[in-house]
Amino acid sequence: MTFEDAYLARTPGSRELFERASKTIPAGAGSSARTVGFGWAPYPPFMHDGRGSRIRDVDGNEYVDYLLGLGPMILGHRHPTVTRAVADAVSEYGTCFGLPYRLEVEAAEKVVEAVPGIEQVRFTNSGSEAVGTAVRLARATTGRRLVIRFEGHYHGWQDTVYWSNHVDPELAGPSDRPRPVAAGPGVPLELADTLVVLTWNDPDSFRRVMDERGDEVAAVITEAAVFNTGCILPEPGYLELLRELTTRHGAMLIFDEVITGFRFCRGGAQEWFGVTPDLTTLAKGLGGGFPVAAIGGSRDAMSMVAEGRYSHSGTYNANVVQCAAVAATMDVLAEPGLYERQRALGERLSGGLVELARQAGLPASAEGLGTVFQLWFSEERIRNWREADAYADHALFTRWYQEMLLRGVLFHPLQFENLFVSLVHDDEDIDLTLDAATQAFEVLAADRAVG
Ligand code: PLP
Repeated sequence: MTFEDAYLARTPGSRELFERASKTIPAGAGSSARTVGFGWAPYPPFMHDGRGSRIRDVDGNEYVDYLLGLGPMILGHRHPTVTRAVADAVSEYGTCFGLPYRLEVEAAEKVVEAVPGIEQVRFTNSGSEAVGTAVRLARATTGRRLVIRFEGHYHGWQDTVYWSNHVDPELAGPSDRPRPVAAGPGVPLELADTLVVLTWNDPDSFRRVMDERGDEVAAVITEAAVFNTGCILPEPGYLELLRELTTRHGAMLIFDEVITGFRFCRGGAQEWFGVTPDLTTLAKGLGGGFPVAAIGGSRDAMSMVAEGRYSHSGTYNANVVQCAAVAATMDVLAEPGLYERQRALGERLSGGLVELARQAGLPASAEGLGTVFQLWFSEERIRNWREADAYADHALFTRWYQEMLLRGVLFHPLQFENLFVSLVHDDEDIDLTLDAATQAFEVLAADRAVG
């Protein structure tokens, strides 16, 4: 039986909802990342509910969930502490005052206590909003307009940064001097002049650009580990180099920790790698599954906001749902030993998957670190977008996703996404996943033998 036949047989309810949704919702889903065009073919499974590490679709199929809502469900689904804190706060206080309040102060204090580079913080609604603010604030603070970003990184959908994510190398030119390429139609092309796009983990090209144009640079924005290209970690010394040269040239360093925040450890990638940026953006993970983002930084970096010379506004900023969720999530994440335990669990999974794939005769390696990683059907080291593009085996990855889905394991169908291990996954989840993978890899190996 083909995947499509098996999927249709298991998901009649999803199919019906997809047909219905497609009439009133473009492409049948609320974000393009959930559509057929992003790998969810022939139609996405429609979800009913989640609890802990498990999620259930409308047809009653249960999955071990490594998609985690694309990152936010760091504490699994419906974490009792966070859910209760939000419900209690809404019934006790309300939702939105258009004025500051006590719980907002408590949430801010907890984030400042957790994240090394944040002395002051503002809450907002989405990662894209937080990044938009960070970039404009860096330009306002430095009086410069040039922003350096890297191929393969995603910083949300704002015009200023929606460039050169999963770019076609044919369009982008040589890896030591890539051209900025807009990531989609509608982005004003004249913004190309405000950007320098570079290859990540390549110290030489960064040094050269800073030598040539460092004094024009307002900000260098980077994911501190590239979760938007299958979980690439920085080479030793690379983040330190970004820090050193931005400081030397009076530019701001922005860590876009929208996904990396709270992931490897409570202080985010900046704590893990020991490099402190000027500005940090946070989102997924920050609210334990509730929609909230943040822009924070050193007192110095936030001074224009503090002094009222930069207006950062938003009707829904720091609403009660957000602040209750953030305060409760920060408390849950402070449990001693939590991250150590879950990183070890994630490493059992990633190591186990690589070993099982290789036993089945498939080339395999894992990039990442415990609580987030990606499986690559290649044994080459992947250090940046160009290498990811060269070594990705999309067809094999999709087949793997399909065979795992049919066996009750859910993750994103695209190679350039990640497997997220939440802080509530347990050994039983990993056992079930490794059992499913043993069978799935056998199917893949048999397909290859025939093909
Ligand atoms: N920055 C990074 C690193 C992201 O991964 C994302 C989303 O995936 C964003 C920014 C945008 O966040 P949002 O989808 O909340 O707008």
